[in-house]
Amino acid sequence: MKPPSIVVLTGAGISAESGLGTFRGPDGLWNGIDYREVSTPAGFARNPAKVHEFYNMRRRNGLAAQANAAHVALARLEQEHDGDFLLVTQNVDRLHEQAGSKRILHMHGDLGRVRCTECDAEHEWLTDLSTDTVCPSCGRSGGMRPAIVWFTEMPLYLNEIGTALKNCDLFISIGTSGNVSPASYFVAEAKRHKAATVELNLEPSEGATLFGDARYGKATEIVPAFVDEFLAKTAKGSAPT
Ligand code: NAD
Repeated sequence: MKPPSIVVLTGAGISAESGLGTFRGPDGLWNGIDYREVSTPAGFARNPAKVHEFYNMRRRNGLAAQANAAHVALARLEQEHDGDFLLVTQNVDRLHEQAGSKRILHMHGDLGRVRCTECDAEHEWLTDLSTDTVCPSCGRSGGMRPAIVWFTEMPLYLNEIGTALKNCDLFISIGTSGNVSPASYFVAEAKRHKAATVELNLEPSEGATLFGDARYGKATEIVPAFVDEFLAKTAKGSAPT
């Protein structure tokens, strides 16, 4: 029997126990911050210094954080699973890569990259940005911004993700509230193509009723347990769910 093809979607909840705040909830990043000011092109045009301050803080925190047991378990799943595997993350941190994940798409961008709005060149960038930062490609200043997908902008890799969802047998959603589209529609798309679906989250998400199976608890506990169980089952050649 052909091994199942897996698509995993992760959100801020998988990095919460690495010390990176989620967006929503009592300690969420959006508490006290208006996302329109720091995470939209219009906010950047109005006050780029404020946007840089917000992302400089997130870049420093994100790059200093350590991957946790849930990131490590997903890297192990990718390595030990025989079939196709794709990890799609809404996260802009690099904790999946730190844990060893290889087949990964950052649909909302990467905290460690910047883009020049003058010449469109992208660069790896691990230090602070300011309104004076000069683009290494075109030499102009004032246009450098985080390579992050802001509200009103189009997420990345949607064609590749659509193809993977169409062909997957198992869709696993981890640590995401189901508030942000199009990621919130992935479960319906996977189901439309007859995939089994599982939600692993602290609590039922907005789309919880769409999932065929669910485990609730901390990502560092439920993700390694799920991966162990899945690898043990598929090693015996039984069904993917
Ligand atoms: P969200 O804040 O809307 O939801 C997080 C979800 O994770 C919630 O459902 C919550 O119950 C769950 N959660 C919290 N702690 C958890 C834990 N320890 N274990 C398991 N689940 C836990 O985040 P989202 O759905 O990813 O929202 C999407 C946006 O958040 C994306 O655009 C993403 O770029 C952004 N974001 C990313 C990071 C990061 O890169 N680490 C951090 C904050 C926000």
